[in-house]
Amino acid sequence: MPNEASIGQSKRRADRVRLDTGFVVRWLRGSAADIASNRDYLTQLDAAIGDADHGVNMDRGLSAVLSMVESADGLLPGELLVQTGATLVLRVGGAAGPLYGTAFREAGRALGDRETFGLEDLADLLEAGLRGITKLGAADEGDKTIVDAWAPAIRALRHGRSGGPARATHEARVAAEAGSAATTPMEARKGRASCLGPRSGGHQDPGATSTALLFAALERAAR
Ligand code: ADP
Ligand code: MG
Repeated sequence: MPNEASIGQSKRRADRVRLDTGFVVRWLRGSAADIASNRDYLTQLDAAIGDADHGVNMDRGLSAVLSMVESADGLLPGELLVQTGATLVLRVGGAAGPLYGTAFREAGRALGDRETFGLEDLADLLEAGLRGITKLGAADEGDKTIVDAWAPAIRALRHGRSGGPARATHEARVAAEAGSAATTPMEARKGRASCLGPRSGGHQDPGATSTALLFAALERAAR
Protein backbone atom coordinates (compact mmCIF):
# COMPACT_ATOMS: atom_id res chain seq x y z
CA MET A 1 0.00 0.00 0.00
CA PRO A 2 1.43 3.43 -0.87
CA ASN A 3 1.65 5.65 2.19
CA GLU A 4 0.22 9.16 2.34
CA ALA A 5 3.56 10.77 1.60
CA SER A 6 4.05 8.76 -1.59
CA ILE A 7 0.49 9.47 -2.71
CA GLY A 8 1.18 13.15 -2.13
CA GLN A 9 4.40 12.91 -4.14
CA SER A 10 2.84 11.14 -7.12
CA LYS A 11 -0.11 13.53 -7.11
CA ARG A 12 2.29 16.48 -7.22
CA ARG A 13 4.21 14.78 -10.04
CA ALA A 14 0.97 14.31 -12.00
CA ASP A 15 0.09 17.96 -11.43
CA ARG A 16 3.48 19.07 -12.76
CA VAL A 17 2.86 17.46 -16.17
CA ARG A 18 2.04 20.23 -18.60
CA LEU A 19 -0.28 19.55 -21.51
CA ASP A 20 -0.82 22.27 -24.10
CA THR A 21 -2.50 23.25 -27.36
CA GLY A 22 -0.21 20.83 -29.22
CA PHE A 23 -1.59 17.96 -27.16
CA VAL A 24 -5.18 18.97 -27.94
CA VAL A 25 -4.33 19.33 -31.65
CA ARG A 26 -2.80 15.82 -31.68
CA TRP A 27 -5.90 14.49 -29.91
CA LEU A 28 -8.30 16.08 -32.40
CA ARG A 29 -6.27 15.06 -35.47
CA GLY A 30 -5.99 11.51 -34.15
CA SER A 31 -9.71 11.40 -33.39
CA ALA A 32 -10.57 12.54 -36.91
CA ALA A 33 -8.27 9.85 -38.37
CA ASP A 34 -9.72 7.06 -36.20
CA ILE A 35 -13.32 8.06 -36.84
CA ALA A 36 -12.62 8.21 -40.60
CA SER A 37 -11.07 4.74 -40.66
CA ASN A 38 -13.92 3.32 -38.55
CA ARG A 39 -16.71 5.16 -40.36
CA ASP A 40 -18.20 2.04 -41.96
CA TYR A 41 -17.84 -0.01 -38.78
CA LEU A 42 -19.69 2.64 -36.71
CA THR A 43 -22.38 2.83 -39.36
CA GLN A 44 -22.75 -0.97 -39.35
CA LEU A 45 -23.19 -0.93 -35.57
CA ASP A 46 -25.84 1.77 -35.94
CA ALA A 47 -27.55 -0.24 -38.70
CA ALA A 48 -28.20 -3.03 -36.18
CA ILE A 49 -29.92 -0.90 -33.51
CA GLY A 50 -30.44 2.53 -35.05
CA ASP A 51 -30.62 4.18 -38.45
CA ALA A 52 -27.16 3.45 -39.89
CA ASP A 53 -25.82 6.99 -39.78
CA HIS A 54 -23.49 7.20 -36.77
CA GLY A 55 -20.26 6.63 -38.73
CA VAL A 56 -21.27 9.05 -41.46
CA ASN A 57 -22.42 11.64 -38.89
CA MET A 58 -19.23 11.44 -36.85
CA ASP A 59 -16.93 11.44 -39.87
CA ARG A 60 -18.66 14.54 -41.26
CA GLY A 61 -18.21 16.28 -37.90
CA LEU A 62 -14.62 15.27 -37.26
CA SER A 63 -13.60 16.18 -40.83
CA ALA A 64 -14.98 19.65 -40.16
CA VAL A 65 -13.07 19.72 -36.84
CA LEU A 66 -9.90 18.78 -38.72
CA SER A 67 -10.37 21.70 -41.15
CA MET A 68 -11.02 24.02 -38.21
CA VAL A 69 -7.85 22.79 -36.45
CA GLU A 70 -5.73 23.31 -39.57
CA SER A 71 -6.96 26.87 -40.06
CA ALA A 72 -7.03 27.89 -36.38
CA ASP A 73 -3.86 29.53 -35.25
CA GLY A 74 -2.82 30.60 -31.80
CA LEU A 75 -5.89 29.28 -29.98
CA LEU A 76 -5.61 28.35 -26.33
CA PRO A 77 -6.38 24.68 -25.55
CA GLY A 78 -9.74 25.61 -24.02
CA GLU A 79 -10.70 27.76 -27.01
CA LEU A 80 -9.83 24.91 -29.35
CA LEU A 81 -12.09 22.54 -27.42
CA VAL A 82 -14.95 25.08 -27.40
CA GLN A 83 -14.56 25.54 -31.19
CA THR A 84 -14.58 21.75 -31.58
CA GLY A 85 -17.84 21.57 -29.64
CA ALA A 86 -19.44 24.27 -31.79
CA THR A 87 -18.29 22.48 -34.97
CA LEU A 88 -19.66 19.12 -33.80
CA VAL A 89 -23.06 20.60 -32.87
CA LEU A 90 -23.26 22.16 -36.30
CA ARG A 91 -21.98 19.27 -38.41
CA VAL A 92 -22.64 15.89 -36.76
CA GLY A 93 -26.42 15.98 -36.41
CA GLY A 94 -28.49 13.15 -34.92
CA ALA A 95 -28.38 12.54 -31.19
CA ALA A 96 -24.61 12.37 -31.09
CA GLY A 97 -23.98 15.89 -32.49
CA PRO A 98 -25.48 17.86 -29.62
CA LEU A 99 -24.13 15.37 -27.05
CA TYR A 100 -20.51 15.35 -28.25
CA GLY A 101 -20.74 19.04 -29.09
CA THR A 102 -21.83 19.91 -25.56
CA ALA A 103 -19.13 17.64 -24.13
CA PHE A 104 -16.29 19.40 -25.96
CA ARG A 105 -17.74 22.85 -25.30
CA GLU A 106 -18.08 22.18 -21.58
CA ALA A 107 -14.60 20.60 -21.50
CA GLY A 108 -13.16 23.74 -23.09
CA ARG A 109 -15.02 26.03 -20.74
CA ALA A 110 -13.73 24.08 -17.77
CA LEU A 111 -10.18 24.74 -18.95
CA GLY A 112 -10.82 28.47 -19.26
CA ASP A 113 -7.88 30.54 -20.50
CA ARG A 114 -5.06 28.31 -19.23
CA GLU A 115 -2.16 27.90 -21.65
CA THR A 116 -1.06 24.60 -20.14
CA PHE A 117 -2.72 22.10 -17.85
CA GLY A 118 -2.00 18.99 -15.83
CA LEU A 119 -3.45 15.49 -15.71
CA GLU A 120 -5.74 16.47 -12.88
CA ASP A 121 -7.15 19.21 -15.12
CA LEU A 122 -7.48 16.72 -17.99
CA ALA A 123 -9.62 14.48 -15.78
CA ASP A 124 -11.63 17.54 -14.66
CA LEU A 125 -12.27 18.77 -18.19
CA LEU A 126 -13.39 15.32 -19.32
CA GLU A 127 -15.63 15.18 -16.28
CA ALA A 128 -17.13 18.55 -17.25
CA GLY A 129 -17.74 17.07 -20.71
CA LEU A 130 -19.49 14.06 -19.18
CA ARG A 131 -21.68 16.35 -17.06
CA GLY A 132 -22.66 18.14 -20.27
CA ILE A 133 -23.61 14.82 -21.86
CA THR A 134 -25.69 13.64 -18.91
CA LYS A 135 -27.35 17.02 -18.40
CA LEU A 136 -28.52 16.99 -22.00
CA GLY A 137 -29.19 13.28 -22.50
CA ALA A 138 -30.07 12.15 -18.95
CA ALA A 139 -28.40 8.76 -19.47
CA ASP A 140 -26.94 6.77 -16.61
CA GLU A 141 -24.27 4.12 -16.93
CA GLY A 142 -25.95 0.90 -18.05
CA ASP A 143 -28.33 2.66 -20.47
CA LYS A 144 -26.20 1.59 -23.48
CA THR A 145 -24.89 5.00 -24.57
CA ILE A 146 -21.75 7.13 -24.90
CA VAL A 147 -21.79 7.39 -21.09
CA ASP A 148 -20.89 3.69 -20.74
CA ALA A 149 -17.46 4.35 -22.27
CA TRP A 150 -16.88 7.94 -21.15
CA ALA A 151 -17.55 7.48 -17.42
CA PRO A 152 -15.25 4.49 -16.75
CA ALA A 153 -12.53 6.15 -18.87
CA ILE A 154 -12.47 9.15 -16.52
CA ARG A 155 -12.33 6.90 -13.45
CA ALA A 156 -9.40 5.02 -14.99
CA LEU A 157 -7.62 8.25 -15.91
CA ARG A 158 -7.88 9.47 -12.33
CA HIS A 159 -6.73 6.09 -11.06
CA GLY A 160 -3.70 6.05 -13.36
CA ARG A 161 -2.67 9.69 -13.12
CA SER A 162 0.24 9.15 -10.75
CA GLY A 163 1.86 7.07 -13.54
CA GLY A 164 2.01 10.12 -15.83
CA PRO A 165 0.12 10.97 -19.02
CA ALA A 166 1.07 7.90 -21.08
CA ARG A 167 0.01 5.50 -18.30
CA ALA A 168 -3.14 7.43 -17.32
CA THR A 169 -4.46 7.80 -20.86
CA HIS A 170 -3.59 4.16 -21.58
CA GLU A 171 -5.76 3.09 -18.64
CA ALA A 172 -8.50 5.45 -19.81
CA ARG A 173 -8.46 3.95 -23.32
CA VAL A 174 -8.56 0.38 -22.01
CA ALA A 175 -11.50 1.28 -19.75
CA ALA A 176 -13.36 3.04 -22.58
CA GLU A 177 -12.94 -0.03 -24.79
CA ALA A 178 -14.09 -2.36 -22.02
CA GLY A 179 -17.02 -0.03 -21.35
CA SER A 180 -18.06 -0.02 -24.99
CA ALA A 181 -17.74 -3.83 -25.23
CA ALA A 182 -19.86 -4.13 -22.08
CA THR A 183 -22.77 -2.38 -23.84
CA THR A 184 -23.33 -5.44 -26.06
CA PRO A 185 -25.66 -7.38 -23.75
CA MET A 186 -27.38 -4.22 -22.49
CA GLU A 187 -30.90 -3.18 -23.37
CA ALA A 188 -30.91 0.43 -24.59
CA ARG A 189 -32.82 2.82 -22.36
CA LYS A 190 -31.95 6.07 -24.16
CA GLY A 191 -31.88 7.23 -27.75
CA ARG A 192 -33.25 5.64 -30.88
CA ALA A 193 -32.15 2.10 -29.91
CA SER A 194 -34.44 2.20 -26.85
CA CYS A 195 -37.43 1.81 -29.20
CA LEU A 196 -36.21 -1.75 -29.86
CA GLY A 197 -36.48 -2.72 -26.18
CA PRO A 198 -34.94 -6.14 -25.52
CA ARG A 199 -34.09 -6.53 -29.23
CA SER A 200 -31.35 -3.91 -28.76
CA GLY A 201 -29.43 -6.53 -26.75
CA GLY A 202 -26.62 -8.44 -28.45
CA HIS A 203 -25.23 -5.40 -30.31
CA GLN A 204 -22.45 -3.05 -29.26
CA ASP A 205 -23.55 0.56 -28.92
CA PRO A 206 -22.26 2.80 -31.74
CA GLY A 207 -21.87 5.90 -29.54
CA ALA A 208 -19.91 4.06 -26.83
CA THR A 209 -17.72 2.70 -29.63
CA SER A 210 -16.98 6.16 -31.06
CA THR A 211 -16.16 7.37 -27.54
CA ALA A 212 -13.61 4.56 -27.19
CA LEU A 213 -12.02 5.78 -30.45
CA LEU A 214 -11.72 9.31 -29.00
CA PHE A 215 -9.94 7.87 -25.96
CA ALA A 216 -7.61 5.82 -28.18
CA ALA A 217 -6.60 9.06 -29.89
CA LEU A 218 -6.13 10.70 -26.48
CA GLU A 219 -3.70 7.94 -25.53
CA ARG A 220 -1.62 8.44 -28.68
CA ALA A 221 -1.63 12.22 -28.17
CA ALA A 222 -0.15 11.78 -24.69
CA ARG A 223 2.81 9.62 -25.74
P1 ADP B 1 -29.25 9.11 -33.99
O1 ADP B 1 -29.59 8.09 -32.96
O2 ADP B 1 -30.05 10.35 -33.86
O3 ADP B 1 -29.25 8.54 -35.38
P2 ADP B 1 -26.38 8.80 -33.94
O4 ADP B 1 -26.63 7.55 -34.70
O5 ADP B 1 -25.36 9.73 -34.51
O6 ADP B 1 -27.72 9.58 -33.69
O7 ADP B 1 -25.88 8.44 -32.46
C1 ADP B 1 -26.40 7.34 -31.76
C2 ADP B 1 -25.67 7.21 -30.45
O8 ADP B 1 -25.96 8.31 -29.61
C3 ADP B 1 -26.09 5.99 -29.65
O9 ADP B 1 -25.35 4.86 -30.04
C4 ADP B 1 -25.82 6.40 -28.22
O10 ADP B 1 -24.52 6.02 -27.80
C5 ADP B 1 -25.85 7.91 -28.26
N1 ADP B 1 -26.99 8.41 -27.51
C6 ADP B 1 -28.27 8.47 -27.90
N2 ADP B 1 -29.04 9.02 -26.95
C7 ADP B 1 -28.21 9.31 -25.91
C8 ADP B 1 -28.38 9.92 -24.62
N3 ADP B 1 -29.59 10.33 -24.20
N4 ADP B 1 -27.28 10.07 -23.83
C9 ADP B 1 -26.07 9.66 -24.25
N5 ADP B 1 -25.83 9.11 -25.46
C10 ADP B 1 -26.89 8.92 -26.28
MG1 MG C 1 -28.08 6.91 -35.92
